[in-house]
Amino acid sequence: MSQASEPETTEGTGRIKSVSGPVVKAVDLDARMNDVVYVGDEGLMGEVIEIEGDVTTIQVYEETSGVAPGEPVENTGEPLSVDLGPGMLDAIYDGVQRPLDVLEEKMDSAFLDRGVDAPGIDLEKEWEFTPEVEAGDNVEPGDIVGVVPETVTIDHKVMVPPDYEGGVVESAEEGEFTVDDPVVTLENGEEIAMRQEWPVREQRPTVEKRTPRTPLVSGQRILDGLFPIAKGGTAAIPGPFGSGKTVTQHSLAKFADADIVVYVGCGERGNEMTEVIEDFPELEDPKTGNSLMARTSLIANTSNMPVAARESCVYTGITIAEYYRDMGYDVALMADSTSRWAEAMREISSRLEEMPGEEGYPAYLAARLAEFYERAGYFENLNGTEGSVSAIGAVSPPGGDFSEPVTQNTLRIVKTFWALDADLAERRHFPAINWNESYSLYQDQLDPWFKENVAEDWAERRQWAVDTLDEEGELQEIVQLVGKDALPEDQQLTLEIARYLREGYLQQNAFIDVDMYCPPEKTYAILSTIQTYNDEAFDALDAGVPIEDITSIDAAPKLNRIATQEDWEEFVEELQADITEQLRSLY
Ligand code: ADP
Repeated sequence: MSQASEPETTEGTGRIKSVSGPVVKAVDLDARMNDVVYVGDEGLMGEVIEIEGDVTTIQVYEETSGVAPGEPVENTGEPLSVDLGPGMLDAIYDGVQRPLDVLEEKMDSAFLDRGVDAPGIDLEKEWEFTPEVEAGDNVEPGDIVGVVPETVTIDHKVMVPPDYEGGVVESAEEGEFTVDDPVVTLENGEEIAMRQEWPVREQRPTVEKRTPRTPLVSGQRILDGLFPIAKGGTAAIPGPFGSGKTVTQHSLAKFADADIVVYVGCGERGNEMTEVIEDFPELEDPKTGNSLMARTSLIANTSNMPVAARESCVYTGITIAEYYRDMGYDVALMADSTSRWAEAMREISSRLEEMPGEEGYPAYLAARLAEFYERAGYFENLNGTEGSVSAIGAVSPPGGDFSEPVTQNTLRIVKTFWALDADLAERRHFPAINWNESYSLYQDQLDPWFKENVAEDWAERRQWAVDTLDEEGELQEIVQLVGKDALPEDQQLTLEIARYLREGYLQQNAFIDVDMYCPPEKTYAILSTIQTYNDEAFDALDAGVPIEDITSIDAAPKLNRIATQEDWEEFVEELQADITEQLRSLY
């Protein structure tokens, strides 16, 4: 069907040839790859994923039961895009950026009806726009032309869309506008509004990606202390059931020093996602006391939503994250879980009868995961600001088996791995992050920051902790065989020190106010105090003091209480003095 012959009625219109779950084949459709199309009499939203001769294959973002061959397929001629502009924070979307509250209103009940479309941001609401340019200024793509107080916490920067030409400003308006009203007009006729669109599968342009050198401080001791992630870094958390994945993610969302959080809930079981939708709005932003949602955008796809919408939700999320990055913000994107996303790819791939790769996943699984994580990074933006997207992906390996393809391919890409461990959780060691299996490849890049901002010997102390925990691991194997008392005294002492590291340093209670967030200075202080005990204790042992006397000094058990002290600085100072004095008095 040619576009030129009868453009008004038949532009791009085709007919359904076959329907297989979320995959619909159409004929006579004039379309390009990734075009968004409306399928069937109900106009269900879908995306072109394959074109072969006259047959176009479409993945449909809505339930397709009842859709029959012969029904029309309409092409929009546009790729799958998101609406970007004020109103994305405090919003809860489905995988193709339809606001859930608006959908619910339109359909009376969530997740049921089909063919309902809704813009990603409110088109009627008026926002207070203050220009930052004036007539005569020259602006280029990406430049900031004004600000809008989007929420109590975040100023939204209105930018020249990257695909504009830019040029000399003719006029800039101050006042209340809807997102589609032009607020800045250029002499070349280009009109800049608060809303812009961007195709989700395309990375937003920047000047360059830089080596990240600042940590995304999480306030979680084991993460900042041992396995730090950079601003602009990538991390994976496998989360066996009950291992504390939800609690860890909430802690990160609340305390990590990101300006904006984008949380992509991708196809976890329905009730889990409902939990997120209910929980997040209740969370308080510890920095401002406002709702955490004031700097959060939530994308929620439960597994009872159609599989193709799950495939797209990750892209929707990262595009929103990139947009806030362009404003100069540090954004943390959390995807939960990338395994469900991969399963969606697998399901669609099998409907397409593609040649399956490992465990039925498509051969391009690794490439898709890599493309996603590559959109994270620390960037110089087009407008000269610096911003970052840190991507933290949860993985849910069936049966906790890390050898499966999604975990393995993810591990090859991400630079931080926080291994949540069901055994530790069972022993009530929280956060249940396994220190033997976890790692961070950012340590060397970030050490200069910690050295400059926290303590000169930050890296040396961390190494000491890691070595001590390693040694404990080895000694534990011997203890299992012969019992603790069979060990020489110096090894028994190492076990005692390692116990304080585990209980006083690595454990952190997410439900106690004073402990849920631990600044890096306190993380350092706890570790140094345990090391003081270590050094003094080994000196005492060398001087011939019996181990029982060393381990039973009054001060020692206080090592486990530093974390919960309000005035920890004073407490630490006294404790270090007491430890030294009590141990030295023994010889
Ligand atoms: P998952 O999401 O992996 O199934 P949750 O995050 O719901 O697991 O955690 C299960 C339980 O473990 C929580 O209800 C809580 O009691 C405990 N828990 C997890 N992390 C912590 C933590 N950091 N501090 C204290 N308790 C925790």
